[in-house]
Parts: sequence; C-alpha cells; structure tokens
Amino acid sequence: APIIEVRDVTRQYKRRRGFHTTVTDAVQGVSFTLRDGMVTALVGESGSGKSTLARMITGVEKPTSGQVLFHSASGEPAEPTSLSRSKLKEFRRTVQYVFQDPYAALNPAHTIGYSLAVPVRNYDGLRGKKLRDRVLELLDTVGLTPAASFAGRYPYQLSGGQRQRVVIARALAPQPRLLVADEPVASLDVSIRAEILELLHDLVQDHGVGILYITHDLLSARMLADEALVLSKGKVVESGNARTVITEP
Ligand code: ADP
Ligand code: ADP
Repeated sequence: APIIEVRDVTRQYKRRRGFHTTVTDAVQGVSFTLRDGMVTALVGESGSGKSTLARMITGVEKPTSGQVLFHSASGEPAEPTSLSRSKLKEFRRTVQYVFQDPYAALNPAHTIGYSLAVPVRNYDGLRGKKLRDRVLELLDTVGLTPAASFAGRYPYQLSGGQRQRVVIARALAPQPRLLVADEPVASLDVSIRAEILELLHDLVQDHGVGILYITHDLLSARMLADEALVLSKGKVVESGNARTVITEP
C-alpha cells in the first residue's frame, strides 16, 4: 500500500545577497510513491536534492509547490504539515528517519537500553517488564545479541557498525511503516557496510517495512533497492526497476 506520495514537488530556496535575491531550485517537479515492503533508492550526486526531498517526506519542510501526501491507515491522504493532532501522531510513528552518523545520533550519557526504552515508552506506553522485553526484542531484531549485555552498555563501548544497529533499532521502536535512511552506511568502515545493508534488507523481508534509501553509492542502491530514482540538479532524470536503471559498473 502507498505510505507517502510525492506529487510534482518543487522546493526553492531564496537567499538574499546584498541587493540581489538568488533562487535555488533544490527539487523540481519530482513525483514518486513509497510503499510498504518496498525499497526505493534515491540516488544522485551531492547537491542533487536528496536531503531536501527527505526533509519534505519526513514533514520537517514544506514543498514550494506540489504535494507530499501521507496515506494513513484510515482516512484521506493528507500533507504531513497540515495533519490533525491524532494523525500527526500516527505520521510521526509511521515515518522514521535513520540518522547518518551514529556517533552524533546517540546520547553518549545514556545506555543503549535507555535510548531504546524512551521511544518504546512514548509510543507504546509500555512499562516495567514489558518495556524491558520489548527493548531486548528490538536489540535481537538488529542482531545485537546477547541483547541483555548490549542493553547495559554505553555508545562508546560499541563499534561503529553496532552503533548503527542501535540507531536502526531506535527507528524501529515506534513500529514504523517507512524508514528514511539518508546515507546510513556512509560513515562506516567499508568492511561493515554490507552487514548493515543486509540488516536493512532483512527488515524489509521479515517485517515488511518500506525504505527510502538515500545514497550517492550506485552499487549499494542496486543491491538493496526495488526501484530507483536518479536525481540530477533537483530533477528525476531516470526511474524504474533498480537493476535496470542502475547498470552494472
Ligand atoms: P543532496 O542531499 O543531494 O546533497 P541537498 O538537498 O542537500 O542535496 O541540496 C540541493 C540543493 O539545494 C543544493 O544546491 C543546496 O545548496 C541547496 N540547499 C539545500 N538546503 C538549502 C537551504 N536550507 N538553504 C539554501 N539552499 C539549500
Ligand atoms: P547532507 O546529507 O547534506 O550531507 P548532513 O549529513 O550534515 O547533510 O545532515 C543530514 C541532513 O538531514 C541535514 O540536511 C539535516 O537537515 C537533515 N535532517 C535532520 N533531521 C531530519 C529529519 N527528521 N528528517 C529529514 N531530514 C533531516
């Protein structure tokens, strides 16, 4: 089913430079749909508009024209920036942003267990043993076992790959339908990138989440994605089946 529909979206940034105003078309006339259980890759060079699209999809920014529509479980599709209180709550849990840099994303003063318990409690209202069990289940899901041992550790006691697994577990805590992953492996050692991509692949297979995989790395997009959109200077220059759109190097 559709989760997010991007309809002919344009985003301009105006900047004043002295007497002049310069206008950047960061995104121009882009359309696509993100669905449950499907990986869509958004590829393009630096400055092509990927992050701008991500911010509109997660509702932190509004298109200049066109629409981003959230398809909630019930009711009419609506724009993330004009949702009622209850729909906004559903949107926030449905669409989760996976941060690029696990060092910056985790509070160094909090244990892994605490970092996961906070969103579980907020979204599901679990307490006590049920809360603990759900946190351990999340750690298991992302391959951090034995879960109880990881729950008690601090971010500095984990490797980069393990930290990124925690960041993904935290994004999964609200039981989202869509993960927006902006360069989720770019900050990691080459040797562990494949492991994290495999984890994302498993989440789609086993839990049916949809993923918007944002990257400038064509090869990983080809491996992971069902569909690919190639952005250049804010425009979609190619789209379709990932293995057709992205030819083997
Ligand atoms: P990417 O994520 O593909 O690197 P971005 O979406 O970050 O691309 O940027 C697309 C274009 O929009 C770039 O030219 C960038 O400089 C510009 N841009 C992005 N965000 C802003 C902003 N907040 N203010 C002004 N220009 C911006
Ligand atoms: P870039 O992707 O252009 O290299 P950074 O890696 O420094 O930029 O930062 C990641 C980007 O993600 C920033 O442009 C930031 O504004 C954006 N961002 C932060 N939080 C969110 C969010 N919840 N949804 C979408 N984008 C976000």
